[in-house]
Amino acid sequence: MNLGKFRFGGVHPNDHKEAAEIVSSVFPKPKTVLIASAQHAGAPAKIIKKKGDDVKKGELIAEAQGYVSASIHASISGKVASIETVPIPLGRGSQGCLIQETENVTDTEYKLNPSFMSLSAEEMLSKIANAGIVGMGGAMFPTSVKIAGSIKSNCDILLINGVECEPYITSDYRLMLEHTEEIYHAIEIIRHIVPSIKKTVIGIENNKPQAVKKMIPLSKENNVEVLALKLQYPQGAEKMLIDAATQRVVPIGKFPPDIGVLVINIATMKAIYDAVAMDKPLIERLITITGDAIKEKKNLWIPFGTTISEIVDYCGGLLSDNILAMAGGPMMGFALPALNRNTIKGNNALVFLDANKIKKEKEYPCISCERCSNVCPVRLVPTEIAHAAKAGDKELVNKYNIMSCFECGACSYICSSKIPLVQLIRIGKDLLRR
Ligand code: SF4
Ligand code: SF4
Repeated sequence: MNLGKFRFGGVHPNDHKEAAEIVSSVFPKPKTVLIASAQHAGAPAKIIKKKGDDVKKGELIAEAQGYVSASIHASISGKVASIETVPIPLGRGSQGCLIQETENVTDTEYKLNPSFMSLSAEEMLSKIANAGIVGMGGAMFPTSVKIAGSIKSNCDILLINGVECEPYITSDYRLMLEHTEEIYHAIEIIRHIVPSIKKTVIGIENNKPQAVKKMIPLSKENNVEVLALKLQYPQGAEKMLIDAATQRVVPIGKFPPDIGVLVINIATMKAIYDAVAMDKPLIERLITITGDAIKEKKNLWIPFGTTISEIVDYCGGLLSDNILAMAGGPMMGFALPALNRNTIKGNNALVFLDANKIKKEKEYPCISCERCSNVCPVRLVPTEIAHAAKAGDKELVNKYNIMSCFECGACSYICSSKIPLVQLIRIGKDLLRR
C-alpha cells in the first residue's frame, strides 16, 4: 500500500504506545472534583452555582460567555463546597467549582434517543453547544463554533483525525476499537449539520493497524474513506493531516474551513454522538495513564475535575521518588508542577516518567546546521525565532511569523545543540501577547 504523509518536515520519535492494548475501564466515582471554568479556548465560562448548592451529575454549573466559549457541567452529583481558584495544567489559573459527593444521590442516567437522526441540523448543533464540547485533541476550541464556521465556509471535506501521533497517548486508539459505531454515527450527525460535505476521510497512522482494520468494515456503507498514513510526527496537527490526507494546503494566517476542510478528532466525535444521541454533556473523557514511573498503565474514563494524585493511587502509585509528570505527551504536553492538579477537557493522557532515567542534555551554542528548519512542518526558522525571543525583540519574532508555530516541539527534538527552541518560542509568544 502506498501510504501518504505530510510533505514537509517532521520527525520520528519513539512512539511508546505501551498502553495501546489495555482495554478501557471506568475510574471509581471521586469523592470530590474541582472543575475549572476556563478549560477551553476563548472566554472562561461564568460559574452560576454558589457554595452550598446541590448539583446533579451533568447539570450546568458554568455558562459559556460570548461566542467563543464553552459551557461546563458537574461531573459528579453532590454539593458545591466552595468556589475557588484552580491551577490548571495549561498554566493559567481559573475560577473553579469544588463539588463534594453527597450520600444516597441517584445519579443521572443517559439513555439513547433512537430517533436522534430525525432532529434538525439546528437542534443537533445546539445540543453540541449546550453539551460544552471542545476539541479534545488538545486545542479545546469550542466545537459548535468550529462547525458553524464550516457551514459558512461550505466545507466539502470532513476529515476525522485518528492520527494520535504524540508518543505514549492511546486513548483515541481505544475509542476507535471500542466505540467504532458511535464514531460513524457522529459522522452522520456532522454531515447532517454541514450539508456541503461531499467527502469524508478518517486519517489513522499506520502504527495502529487494528484501528484501521476496525474502522474499514463500516466505511463502504457510510461512504467514508479510511486512510492509513505513514508515521511522521506531528501528523496529528490539523494542517499536517490536511496536507497528508487531502493534499490541500492551509496558507499561513488561514484556517482549515478557509480551504473547505472540517477536521474533528476521534474523542470529540464520540462526545458529539453522546451529546446528540444520548443528551449527555461533556463531563468525562478517556485518559491514558502511562509511563515508566506508574505501576499500572491504564486507559480510564475519568470525570473532569478529578485530582491527579487520586488517579495515581488508583493506578497503584509511582515507581520512583523522582518523576516527571506530564499532562499530555512529551512533545506537546505540559509538565505538571504537582499532582494536586485536576483533569480538564483537553487532558488526553497523564504520563509519568522516571526522571532518574531521563538523560540530562547539555545545551551548546547553535552550529547553524539547519536541522531545526528542515523539520519544521510550517517552514519556520526556529533558531532565528528563538534567538530573537531570547533578545526580547518583539518586532523580529513577529517578522519571523512566530504565531504560526504551533509548538509541536519537532525543532527542539532534533536540535544538534540541544537548545530548548520551543520553550524560547513560547517566551517569544508571551512577549507579543503582553
Ligand atoms: S518552530 Fe514551532 S512549528 Fe516549527 S518545529 Fe518548532 S515547535 Fe514545531
Ligand atoms: S538545529 Fe539547533 S544547532 Fe542546528 S541550526 Fe537549529 S538551533 Fe542551531
